[in-house]
Amino acid sequence: MLTNLENKEKIFHSYIPLYPNGKYAHILLIRETNSYTIFRTDRDLNTAKVGKSLKDDTPITRLVWFKRKQVAPERITGRGVLRENAPIIWEKLSEEHKKELEHAFSEGNYNCEYNEINCQACPDCIYYGYAIGGAEEGGSEKSKVFVDSAFSITSFEDSHEEFSFNALFEYGTMTDPSGKTRESFGAEDHVVPEVFFPSIVTIKDPTEPEFLYILNNILRTKRYGAETTRGGSVENHVVGIVFSDGEIFSNLKFTKAITDQLMGEYEENNQPEHKELKHPLRYKEVIEASQSAIEDLITSESIRIIKKLSGNELEDLLHEVISYTSSEEKLSSLIEKAFVDVAQYRKLIKESAPTKKGKGKK
Ligand SMILES: [Zn+2]
Repeated sequence: MLTNLENKEKIFHSYIPLYPNGKYAHILLIRETNSYTIFRTDRDLNTAKVGKSLKDDTPITRLVWFKRKQVAPERITGRGVLRENAPIIWEKLSEEHKKELEHAFSEGNYNCEYNEINCQACPDCIYYGYAIGGAEEGGSEKSKVFVDSAFSITSFEDSHEEFSFNALFEYGTMTDPSGKTRESFGAEDHVVPEVFFPSIVTIKDPTEPEFLYILNNILRTKRYGAETTRGGSVENHVVGIVFSDGEIFSNLKFTKAITDQLMGEYEENNQPEHKELKHPLRYKEVIEASQSAIEDLITSESIRIIKKLSGNELEDLLHEVISYTSSEEKLSSLIEKAFVDVAQYRKLIKESAPTKKGKGKK
């Protein structure tokens, strides 16, 4: 596993603990749209009226990227990795582990469907959590991955465009087989390319395989939003990693602090044309501002910071993570470790619940 990280025993658990402990891993991201994207829960893009920055509380309307719309594509990415590696791992598992994990596999293949049947025995179910109804088989697992709504740095007015579209018939024409021309035209708001959403992914009580699995999902996921096969291209830039004994600041505070940094920078460089944070912001300036914002905010947090990775140290770790996850062999061994951790966790749950099988209290 990772060699570029010291004091790992203070950062990670060696097994998935049954009860909450005080270990937190925060992955600080700038999510950047790379094409026209739709983040919405119904017809319109989601927006929120909030203060402009920490120093300037003038209300502005920002785009909101809801939590579920961030996590769901990343879970699907991870499940693809699990599916790909499952047959080899199944062969390697001990009989004892196979017994614990049998619901995650069917004839050696990964058998857990997102939002359909939660197998309760795979890294996705255990890390991200699930809740299923029903008296006998019902149960739930609290998510160990915390994600919150993200807010665009630039305003809604400045970060979206309205496109009108013609709803084509199945044949790809505007005319149906009877010769009737379709009249339904519509208009839809899209997030424009190069809009930046600061977002923090927090992992509660992580093990090392868990941290790597979740970071890998974030780095691999390139499409988000309503139309994931057309457009929706997003790049996740990791701008910091913080290990601590409590939770750090919120996404909104992060966005506001970055805004202050950018505004301060513009003022210093006498760029009055930037007074209103006009889109497109420069990528490099956003990344630098976000790193300064982390430094600023972290000092006022009333928690213990065990390790904060930025600059070269962060680069080194990310390089190592990528060299790990891009190797077929290493990735497979990581997924195997994740499954074994889950098997041991399931065993712990059963042992802690002497009464009814599978109804362990956690
Ligand atoms: Zn599962």
